[in-house]
Amino acid sequence: MRIVDLSLGFTQGMPAYGASWYPSFELRPIMTPETDPKGHGRRFSQFVMNPHNATHLDAPSHFIRDGKGICDLEPECFIGPAVVADLTEKGRLEPITGDDLEAAVGSDWVPGQRLLIRTDYLDRHWGEPDFWERPPYLVESAADWCVDRGVRLVGLDCLTEEPGDRHFPVHRKLLGAGIPILEYIRNLGALTQRRVWLIALPVLVTGAEASPVRAVALEGGEFGDST
Ligand SMILES: [Zn+2]
Repeated sequence: MRIVDLSLGFTQGMPAYGASWYPSFELRPIMTPETDPKGHGRRFSQFVMNPHNATHLDAPSHFIRDGKGICDLEPECFIGPAVVADLTEKGRLEPITGDDLEAAVGSDWVPGQRLLIRTDYLDRHWGEPDFWERPPYLVESAADWCVDRGVRLVGLDCLTEEPGDRHFPVHRKLLGAGIPILEYIRNLGALTQRRVWLIALPVLVTGAEASPVRAVALEGGEFGDST
């Protein structure tokens, strides 16, 4: 069995979406070995974190009024079989459609699995100034495919919506159907199998619409197979 880390973590000074309301990640030391008032050499930190800035899960309440929040989702959703849809042929600003998903994984799709959409976009372009402006992205027919085919969770390494689309059709459709979205994953190219196990457990924050996640894939042995 092999473990592949799919996570983009949080780092002070990391790139962030360029909107005025979008806070940057901050790691604030609240006690250091030098300032420990009791002289125990302890370290305590506080995070100022917008979970949407790195690998994270969107829960339905992100877009759906009265939808489930992160705490309301069953852990079973985040652990189990997943299939990688290889869409690495998708270049900048190319849409990913339902037909693309059908061609990539439709032939042996089993309802209830997790779908991981691989374009390698984040691996190639994270940190570039136009990262948010020129990604491959999902369109509504891709969300329809996920809903119709019983996808349990959608993970992706490109962007969920077409840049500039302020109607958010993909978020609304997936989250409206109760399908969480695992955004900003990476390293799918390190997998050698298209059927793996995904572990992507969110942190429980009551009332939150999203959570940071350490996402990993397990492959080999009893996890996945080479088909
Ligand atoms: Zn998000």
